[in-house]
Amino acid sequence: MDLQTQLTEVDILIIGAGPAGLVCANALAKAGIHVKIIDHKQKRTAGHADAIMPRTIEIMHSYGLGADVLSQACPAHTIAFYSSRADGSGIENTNHAPALSETDSQWRYSLTLHQGAIEELFIQSMAKEGLTVNRSVHPISIQVSNDPSVLSDRNARPVIR
Ligand SMILES: Cc1cc2nc3c(=O)[nH]c(=O)nc-3n(C[C@H](O)[C@H](O)[C@H](O)COP(=O)(O)OP(=O)(O)OC[C@H]3O[C@@H](n4cnc5c(N)ncnc54)[C@H](O)[C@@H]3O)c2cc1C
Repeated sequence: MDLQTQLTEVDILIIGAGPAGLVCANALAKAGIHVKIIDHKQKRTAGHADAIMPRTIEIMHSYGLGADVLSQACPAHTIAFYSSRADGSGIENTNHAPALSETDSQWRYSLTLHQGAIEELFIQSMAKEGLTVNRSVHPISIQVSNDPSVLSDRNARPVIR
């Protein structure tokens, strides 16, 4: 395959469409920055994180996604902990704790929503700016120019993937 045909010019390339990459891509796209985001895997549909703390709810609101996350997630006020019984006869409840890490937030509870659904909120949000995740893409190499004249030129492209 001719690699030249795969070249695209962007201001920022984000490798990895997990929560960090998606939050970053969404914010940059909303700010009008020309972004490309790639991931070597397909979209996550389940698993990993499922607890959203109050500060994260605040951040979701700052991106205009608060109502969406609140409508999909379950509020969690208390967390119950279970451990195996010493005699091997099953599990037992060992503790209860408030599902809160911040006490000064307006949100007085945590939310539970699986990570795939949280990521989908950002995917839908950045799609409104015309940005989609390029899946099954493996970065092979990255070349960064050492030429000072290139690095100081705002119109240059000093990084090539
Ligand atoms: C079982 C489990 C439970 C968890 N529970 C919670 C919880 O309840 N609450 C909470 O806040 N956090 C929880 N976490 C942590 C949370 O999942 C991580 O903090 C979060 O996923 C990190 O996001 P990230 O974007 O930094 O990395 P990742 O989610 O790991 O995303 C990185 C992405 O980059 C892609 N990638 C990597 N290398 C390349 C490459 N070379 N080329 C292209 N793509 C690449 C990967 O495919 C992946 O999609 C849990 C994690 C696990 C495993």
